[in-house]
Amino acid sequence: MLNVQNPDCLFCRIVRGEIPAKIIYKDEKCVAFYDIDPQAPIHFLVIPKVHISSCGEINGANSLVVSHCFEVITKVTKELGITDFRVVSNCGPQAGQSVPHLHFHVLAGRDMTWPPG
Ligand code: 5GP
Ligand code: ZN
Repeated sequence: MLNVQNPDCLFCRIVRGEIPAKIIYKDEKCVAFYDIDPQAPIHFLVIPKVHISSCGEINGANSLVVSHCFEVITKVTKELGITDFRVVSNCGPQAGQSVPHLHFHVLAGRDMTWPPG
C-alpha cells in the first residue's frame, strides 16, 4: 500500500525526488518539506508517501500513515523549537485545496486569526 503512487501528482513527484523541495524530515511513511509559498514565517507541509487524495479519503486501510504524520508534526515542531502552531488540511477546492495529495500545513511564527477566512 505504501508504494502506491500517482505518476502525475505533484507531491508524489516530490516523494520520488523528481521535483526538488526543501525537505526537513523523511522516513518510510512520510515527508515534511517547506511550502514554496509560505503563509507564515514558518510554513511546512507533512505528507504521506502513499497517494491519498485528501482528508476525505482516509479510512481503516490507510489511517496509520495519517497518525504517523501527526507524530512527525510533533517531532519536527519540537526540533524547530515551535510551541505554538496551526495544523490545516484543506479538503476540496471550495476549502482551498489546490494539490490533490493529502497534506497537513503547519504554520507558525505569527499571530493567527480565528475563524479562518
Ligand atoms: P493546498 O492549497 O492544496 O491546501 O496546499 C498546497 C500547498 O502546496 C500550497 O500552500 C502551495 O504553496 C504548496 N505548493 C505547491 N506547489 C509546490 C511545490 O512545487 N513545492 C512546494 N514545496 N510547495 C508547493
Ligand atoms: Zn500524490
